[in-house]
Amino acid sequence: MSLIFVALGANLPSRFGAPHETLAAAKDAMAGHGIHIKKSSETFLTAPVPLSDQPWYHNAVVHVETELSPFRLLEVLQDIENDFGRVRTVRNAPRILDLDLIAYNDVILDKPALPELQSLPELIVPHPRMHERAFVLLPMQEIIKDWTHPVLNRSLSDLVALLPSGQAVQRLEEAEEVA
Ligand code: ADP
Ligand code: MG
Repeated sequence: MSLIFVALGANLPSRFGAPHETLAAAKDAMAGHGIHIKKSSETFLTAPVPLSDQPWYHNAVVHVETELSPFRLLEVLQDIENDFGRVRTVRNAPRILDLDLIAYNDVILDKPALPELQSLPELIVPHPRMHERAFVLLPMQEIIKDWTHPVLNRSLSDLVALLPSGQAVQRLEEAEEVA
């Protein structure tokens, strides 16, 4: 079974509408590019990390099946981000759509040591910050029971237990009930 996970995030409106509509449209776009969604988490509403006065994020994680290699998959995800109107500025800037490759089976990729490989797009797998992000781990926990981080050698539930405290993450549905 393939265990490939992509995280989606948005905190600015797009031509598809509000962030939750952007996420739905992004899942359709992925399916149209050979990235088949096997399972999707609910949408979570999360405070920006690091905390700032940006709008809150809508986040979800999807379990996908694809024939694309990790590098090709990243390229296609970036093409979709660009098509949705994402403008890259600084890291952690608000964004119309962020698509991160969280994990690709047990593949481990790090920054290339050889200078001749440094022209490849930067790709680190598993995503280098996934294990410290509640907005990745909690949605992921909804869609996969047993998963082990191939570098840290920790189960998903261990990673959740080890999360630093203080990250505000709510299921969108519950957030709407309170509102
Ligand atoms: P972030 O998602 O961390 O807020 P960006 O989406 O702007 O930041 O991505 C910055 C760079 O991270 C991209 O140019 C991409 O090449 C690189 N990158 C490295 N590993 C990954 C990964 N696993 N998924 C997505 N992008 C990655
Ligand atoms: Mg990204």
